This record gives sequence, structure tokens and C-alpha cells, in this order.
Amino acid sequence: MQITDLKCTVIGQNPVIRITTDEGIVGWGEAESPKSYLKPHVLFYRPFLLGEDPTNVERVMLKIRRLGSFKPWGSAVSAIEMALWDIAGKAAGLPVYKLLGGKVRDKVRVYNGAVRFPMSGQTPDHYAANMALMKTSPEKFSIIKQGIGFHSPMPVRLPDFTYGEVREAPFYPNRGLLTERSLKHVIACVEAMKSVLGDEVGLALDCGPGWTVPDAIRLAKALEPLNVMWLEDLITGDYTPYVMAQLYREVTRATSTPIHTGEQIYLRQNFADLIEKQAVRIIGPDPADIGGLAELKWVAEYADLHGILMAPHGIADGLIGLAALVQVCATLPNNYIAFEYPTGKPEWWYDIVDGLPKPIVVDSFITVWDRPGLGVEINPERARRYLPPGDEDFFD
Ligand SMILES: [Mg+2]
Repeated sequence: MQITDLKCTVIGQNPVIRITTDEGIVGWGEAESPKSYLKPHVLFYRPFLLGEDPTNVERVMLKIRRLGSFKPWGSAVSAIEMALWDIAGKAAGLPVYKLLGGKVRDKVRVYNGAVRFPMSGQTPDHYAANMALMKTSPEKFSIIKQGIGFHSPMPVRLPDFTYGEVREAPFYPNRGLLTERSLKHVIACVEAMKSVLGDEVGLALDCGPGWTVPDAIRLAKALEPLNVMWLEDLITGDYTPYVMAQLYREVTRATSTPIHTGEQIYLRQNFADLIEKQAVRIIGPDPADIGGLAELKWVAEYADLHGILMAPHGIADGLIGLAALVQVCATLPNNYIAFEYPTGKPEWWYDIVDGLPKPIVVDSFITVWDRPGLGVEINPERARRYLPPGDEDFFD
């Protein structure tokens, strides 16, 4: 089998890729919604793929993996890898999880991710009210994640949040030492959320990037009695193209609260320090950024060997990304906790993708499906009307 074409377009908000073959099998891949600019990055790899056998996934990836990097280049590489597995699975008549070693669980746990309700303010009462709403969500999530501190409007909305100058954009730009009042405010908001969730639903907190090491330690220690699931991306995070494992290690060693990072990180080599130095307790790679499904699987096994848990990222990966997450997370060792659930945006995404269960999430779990490849298909007839100008031939 040979690859005959690689195309990329943006459907709704998400970049979608389509790899075609001389045997008529088509593979789908998807990247995160904030990367609508990704088409040229994807097409950069096209000449390296044409004529290759897509069922030899690793051999194809050896041609392009080194040409990726942290976001956004690694996102293009990852989406291509996803599509190659889709083709390999369809060619073999097997779901992707079988090709990755087989499933170790029949259903995968997810946490709320893209299922959120707007916050009407930044006081502890607002945070408590938001958790009360989240608990009513029909998916009945057993873990709910909320943004706080630098991963929330607090730096902009609260006076004197840090000792530094406040910036409004882009992508969580603030960093600095918190005032004592701000630190107390963050802690009060977490206590308010826990008072609603109790020990019934786990609370995870997306925190940064932007925390200094001393504040991160103070926060993590103050929250120890609350048993939060994890503190995510305190030091680095969204669009931070470096890891800083030694700083995470300082924080992790100072507290019993689990520290989490990894959604930004491309390739196993860039996880090595975090894992080998036991710098965090949980890592959260995203299959649409780490370099693909097999890369995520390998890193999960290596993390397990070092006593580190897995809570993969995925909030913006869309419905093809959701299928990819289900397939790979079914194969992860028992260090797996849950993945971050993406939704289709806009809502019509659910009309153009075939193969998803209805409802998708039941009691915080998704049952792993058995259709070949990723097991979902974009329906060209229903999706064509949403193609942007210039990409009308995407399905041809
Ligand atoms: Mg995050």
C-alpha cells in the first residue's frame, strides 16, 4: 500500500488531516482547536510521506519525527501519526488498540475537560457554584478539573495578584510572586470547591504556567489536607516550549500533593528528565502533541516503571482526537487515571462524524469500541458544506 496524498483543512475550529492511499483506504487525524493556522505545517511533511507504506507506521515516522518540535510543529507530526494508525488498523481490519498491544481495559475513564460552565466571577462562592453545576452534568464525571491562579482570570480580575505587572494576553502570560492575599484567595477558592465535591468527586486543578517555586510549594502544602487529585502546570504549561524538570522536582519533593505536567511536551526524549528524576507524580501528554499514539503509549510504560501516573491531556482535540484518546488509553498500564474529555465544537461536529456511541460518556467512562482503525469516520456528504473557501476539494 502507498500513500497517495496528505491534505489538511480546518473544520469548525480544528485542523483535520486526511491521508489517502492507492488501495482506497483513508486515514483521519486531528489537531487542537486553537491551531487553525496549522495547514502549512502539515503540508511541509507531505513530500516525505508520498509513496510510503502507511501500515509501516514507525518507518514513516522516522522520516518526519525529527522534523517536529514542541507546539505547533509537533502537533502536525502527531496528527499524521494518528492518521497512519487509522489506515493501518483499517488495512488489518482491527481497532488501533490491537495494533498498540491490545486493550487492558474495556472502558476508559475521562474527566470533564471541555465540558465546562462559564464562571460568573472569581470569588470562592463563584467557584463553589460552578462545581455544583458541574456535578449536574449528565456525564457524571468522577474527576472535575478547574483552572485557578495563573490558569484563570484571577491575575487580571484581582487587584495586586502578584508583585509584578499584569498582562492580558496571549495564552496565560503572567508569572511572578503572589501577594499573601492572593495566595489565601486561591486556597479559599479550592476549599470552596471541595466543600461542594466532598470525597464524592475528585478535584484536579490547572494552575499555570507562572508560579514561582516558593509559591508553588506553599500552595501544594496548604492543599495537602484537601486531597486534590493533582496540581497541573504550575511552572510551565500552555505554549511553554521547555520542561524545567529540576524546578518541578523541588516542588514535588516538598509536598504530598501530586504535581502534574506534560501537555506541551513533544517526544519521549523531552519526558526523560521529568520521569527519571521523578520530578512530578503525574504526567499528561496529549496524543495530538507528544508525537502520536505510539509515543504516548511508550512514555506511559516508561512512566509506570518509575512510579509516575498518567492523566493525558486532550481538551481541544475534537472528535477524531477523542477516538484516538480512547484507542490509546485502552492500552495504557495501570498507572492510567483518566483522560481529559474533548467535545465537538461547534455542535454540528456530532452530525458529521459517524461511529461515536450515544451517549459517549456514561458514569465518567467511555466504552472502548471495536471498529477497525480509530473507529470513527467523517462523512463527506454532511461535512462538505463546512469546508472553508479554497479547500472544497478536501474530500476528493
Ligand atoms: Mg492544562
